[in-house]
Amino acid sequence: MFKIAIDGPGGAGKSTIAKAVAKRLGIVYVDTGALYRTVGYFVRSKNVDPKDAEAVSALLPQISIEIKYIEGAQHVFLNGEDLGDRIRTPEMSMYASAVSAIGNVRAFLLDTQRDIAKKNSVIMDGRDIGTVILPDAEVKIFLTASEECRARRRYNELLEKGEKVTYEDVLREMNERDKNDSTRDIAPTAAAEDALLLDNSDLSFEESVDAVINIVKEKGLLA
Ligand code: C5P
Repeated sequence: MFKIAIDGPGGAGKSTIAKAVAKRLGIVYVDTGALYRTVGYFVRSKNVDPKDAEAVSALLPQISIEIKYIEGAQHVFLNGEDLGDRIRTPEMSMYASAVSAIGNVRAFLLDTQRDIAKKNSVIMDGRDIGTVILPDAEVKIFLTASEECRARRRYNELLEKGEKVTYEDVLREMNERDKNDSTRDIAPTAAAEDALLLDNSDLSFEESVDAVINIVKEKGLLA
């Protein structure tokens, strides 16, 4: 068994690339952002300020989160209910970012993430996977791209989903969220010291997937 950690800012393509790599290697893909989004969703449903650490912490005992794989795809269940795409809106991105800065929330989600990696070979994406969640991952990649590229990708993704957004709004929200995530006190977005930096501004999706697989091959992890 082995672990691949992929961290980086929003819009670098972490999840789509990691999902494709998982499929090619026959390993489990874990999208950790979905867990923070799920906590954010619950906090929103209770009309609690996501920045209020005390109020958010008080809600945690009411939350049970389970990750299940249905036909190979990750589904996150909140108190028994599959939230599907309800956690994928720009509003939930901001809620996730706010609650993720709270230490109790990060501690609450720690075991869920580590347990999956104990039982399976995984490729896990997030912000602190190589630094905090899986510091002993055999492969660590910090995936990034230029601000313009990342915002453009996120914008196109949202348009495809039928969200009514402008490029300027997407760029502003992306930068705001990346700033929150990389400047918070606990587990900020960061490249682990032993992570490889991969900038995919000029790479196609397929080239990015190949680049990750080549890194894994170079580590001698594939037979
Ligand atoms: O990756 P995704 O955009 O779904 O993540 C949503 C938010 O969850 C991020 O903006 C970040 O605040 C938080 N997150 C985190 N640590 C992770 C994954 C996500 O703090 N490992």
